[in-house]
Amino acid sequence: MRIAIIGSGISGIVSALKLHELHEITVFEANDYLGGHTHTVDVSFADRDYAIDTGFIVFNDRTYPNFQKLLDEHEVAYQPSPMSFSVKNDRNGWEYCGSNLNGLFAQRRNIFNTKFLGMIRDILRFNKQATGALRESEQTVGDYLKNNRFGHSFGESYLLAMGAAIWSCPQDQFAEFPIRFIAKFFENHGLLSITNRPQWYVISGGSREYVKKFTAPFSDRIHLNSPVERVRRVVEGIEVVICGDDVRTFDHVIFACHSDQALRMLEEPSVVESEVLSCFPYEKNSAVLHIDESLLPKKRSAWAAWNYHIRNDQPRASTVTYNMNILQNINSRRTFCVTLNEDDLIDPDKVLGQYNYAHPLFTLERESAQNRHRELINHDGISYCGAYWGNGFHEDGVNSALAVTQVLNSSEHESGATCTAASMKAGSAIVE
Ligand SMILES: Cc1cc2nc3c(=O)[nH]c(=O)nc-3n(C[C@H](O)[C@H](O)[C@H](O)COP(=O)(O)OP(=O)(O)OC[C@H]3O[C@@H](n4cnc5c(N)ncnc54)[C@H](O)[C@@H]3O)c2cc1C
Repeated sequence: MRIAIIGSGISGIVSALKLHELHEITVFEANDYLGGHTHTVDVSFADRDYAIDTGFIVFNDRTYPNFQKLLDEHEVAYQPSPMSFSVKNDRNGWEYCGSNLNGLFAQRRNIFNTKFLGMIRDILRFNKQATGALRESEQTVGDYLKNNRFGHSFGESYLLAMGAAIWSCPQDQFAEFPIRFIAKFFENHGLLSITNRPQWYVISGGSREYVKKFTAPFSDRIHLNSPVERVRRVVEGIEVVICGDDVRTFDHVIFACHSDQALRMLEEPSVVESEVLSCFPYEKNSAVLHIDESLLPKKRSAWAAWNYHIRNDQPRASTVTYNMNILQNINSRRTFCVTLNEDDLIDPDKVLGQYNYAHPLFTLERESAQNRHRELINHDGISYCGAYWGNGFHEDGVNSALAVTQVLNSSEHESGATCTAASMKAGSAIVE
């Protein structure tokens, strides 16, 4: 089949990787680089070069089995990355880092602070509850906090802070996430105990190294700077309009971009497409690469890999700073940081780059929409993949692409020749 893949993030790359041997694929990417959220940037400082990740950074050995398998198959090198989390709360002046006692009590006065100690008690209570009946709860995070009389400090400076940082969304939006999903996610990621934590990794030399290796076999099939403007079903197949004037027809199209972007491109979406894809709203994130250490906690002992900032002025966004020296094990006099959604606080003279990303948000309807992924695999000649079909992370992008490509490849094997969209049924989302 002639297949167009729109988007070259992890979902588009894995789709192309799995399809290029059996099909005539063409990848269209709007940006001038491959990778989407996998975006490594070159920085030179004091005669040294650094490759710094500004979007996708880390994965682990527990919840990324298919991504890790692909890395190993393609001999991509990766290295351990210390994972830690800190909070700087301007509203109550607290700073702490959860990885050890020194960081937890970075401000020694907190040893005698009953509110701070109450937060720690609440953390222990939550960790116990999250492994139990909470898994069946229909409540949102916000309702769960209220109904179980958790202290304000636990919500603001721990659970909501951590969730907002992980999903790059405002705290009040995270409060609307289903608590059963959060309980499961926290357990899977070893966030409910000090032991039993997964090992986190970064790609050696920056995340783009895996992109280079994965795309090498089909690099001649990729078109950068090629934003698709419109997609429409026609009698001959699926018509794709690129940059306004270049019109091409394919047997199949895979939208490997965000759900809202796909809906904007698609002319006359079916009822199922409109219904399901609109259940995945996205939140915009501004990411700034810089060397302004004032974005980190004042106390160095509270510095962590992920540093969440609670501001007095309540911006409606997730405000987190990744310490890239810790995460990517960079040895430099400068501290390279990537800060989300606090452009206004960063000294302009210390900015190295600014990038725009968007992260999918969880809503209560989202889970049932995700269960309908099969309906949108070869849906009248069009399939959909992207991290939004799962938790919003790299493994989810991989799994959604594998679900699509298994169906397209098995149909090709069965027919032994070109198969039409109508001859295929959406298949199972079982991953390899
Ligand atoms: C700041 C940040 C940090 C993150 N860190 C991590 C992390 O450490 N670990 C992790 O697992 N996840 C992380 N994530 C989540 C990340 O979003 C997912 O892991 C994953 O990279 C998303 O992949 P995707 O293929 O769904 O989308 P994307 O990577 O966004 O790819 C979509 C692609 O479609 C292209 N596109 C859109 N419209 C068009 C068009 N009209 N024509 C052609 N191309 C188009 C885009 O340019 C883009 O390249 C992070 C996200 C953000 C924002």
